Amino acid sequence: MNLSHQKILFVSSEAIPFAKTGGLGDVAGALPYALKKLGADVRVVIPKYKCIPQEYINESKIVAEFPVYLEWRKQFARVHEYNTSIPFYFIENNNNFDRDGLYGYEDDHERFAFFCKAVLDMLPRIGFKPDVIHCNDWQTGPICLLLKERYHEDLYYRSISTLYTIHNIQYQGIFGRETLDILGVSDWCFHSEGVEFYGNVSYMKAGLVYADAINTVSNTYAEEIKTSQYGYGLEGVLQRRSNVLYGIVNGIDYEAFNPETDKSLYIPYSKESLHLKKENKKRLQKDLGLPQKDVPMIGLISRLVDQKGLNLIAEKMHDLMQEDIQFVVLGTGQYQYEEMFKYMQGVFPEKVSANILFNLDLAQKIYASSDLFLMPSLFEPCGLGQLISLRYGTIPVVRKTGGLADTIQSFDEKTCKGNGFVFNNFNADEMLGEIRRALHVYQSREKWNILVKNAMESDYSWEDSAKEYMELYQRI
Ligand code: ADP
Repeated sequence: MNLSHQKILFVSSEAIPFAKTGGLGDVAGALPYALKKLGADVRVVIPKYKCIPQEYINESKIVAEFPVYLEWRKQFARVHEYNTSIPFYFIENNNNFDRDGLYGYEDDHERFAFFCKAVLDMLPRIGFKPDVIHCNDWQTGPICLLLKERYHEDLYYRSISTLYTIHNIQYQGIFGRETLDILGVSDWCFHSEGVEFYGNVSYMKAGLVYADAINTVSNTYAEEIKTSQYGYGLEGVLQRRSNVLYGIVNGIDYEAFNPETDKSLYIPYSKESLHLKKENKKRLQKDLGLPQKDVPMIGLISRLVDQKGLNLIAEKMHDLMQEDIQFVVLGTGQYQYEEMFKYMQGVFPEKVSANILFNLDLAQKIYASSDLFLMPSLFEPCGLGQLISLRYGTIPVVRKTGGLADTIQSFDEKTCKGNGFVFNNFNADEMLGEIRRALHVYQSREKWNILVKNAMESDYSWEDSAKEYMELYQRI
């Protein structure tokens, strides 16, 4: 089977290094390069947000300008092409995308309806006809619907297939019925086997129903979302489509996330020079105003939201403070969790550092300096934090769910096998028990060193997963 030369358009609402709010940004900035290495002609398209650094825009060229029709309104799209070893397209429309944030606006349904239509309309204009359009999350779901219900009338589009990837089923893009008019599809799609979702239109469901194949970012999550506990109301659709539902675990970019070359670190290190990892810890302690001593440092880099198990942490924060540890938090999110960490830092300034911000540079310093990385998620489609931690020899403590279950094997103190600490139930006592077990193993230098080595030797680079994507493209 010749898998190369496939033409793939990767459509995302974010991609590093241009715009990122979470894991999708990492995936969209890394997987396409791994596909390219396998021979695919892959291109990526995202909106042209205000946050995209101007240097990238300066180095882009404008490759298309055209009108996009939303209902009776005519809006203009301008497409910028930025070339790395693969082309990235930024779709410009200032009214929609020249804003401080990426999502969370009242008119998100219009903004992403515009984006989806513009993506399809640009194809003949830029001279690129993909075999597969690879859509990601709710922002791109309407592409699958539009292709099947509108653009199929045009011969040009008829041979294009779609893959729809679920990165997080909790965020579904649910809007009022009038959204159908904006998308320009008629009422016949508005039924329970179409895009209707409890009287509204669901962009996520548009992807799930109309894509040729669906996947999510780990095998365990692919199973979990077929149940009412994890499916957020879409489990029925996923059960119906289970014959085309796949799980492919995410990787991370092993060149970008490399403790030997990462420019954000104070000092680079490898698994042969772990004493330098400790040096990073000392320097970070100094920068964050923590005492410079060799106690286990627990890192938490996360959106501070219920999904990430923040309520378990809040419940056990006082118990954790009884331990001889330091707890370094980096994240933003729900108000009560941000305030809780600030309060704990006020009460335990020698133990807690609360950094309520989004900062990629500080994130790398924390990944490198911490001994443990806490990720007690309620659900986790794949999770990248634990993979980055492994790469930096920082041991994940995770709940057994989704991608965490697929990537972290609990350390067995007898055989010294495993790369982290895993607890089963979404329960604060279980989490605390597992953290305490980790702190206990930390006291045994010999075992800890084996564990760190196991972690650093775990391979979650993109190579294998990219091959699975190539096979999936071929299949559809
Ligand atoms: P999700 O996509 O659900 O937020 P993931 O674990 O898949 O979770 O990916 C989160 C990504 O965002 C990781 O690369 C993590 O390092 C990064 N990240 C999360 N919060 C912050 C923050 N406050 N500052 C910098 N990076 C962050």
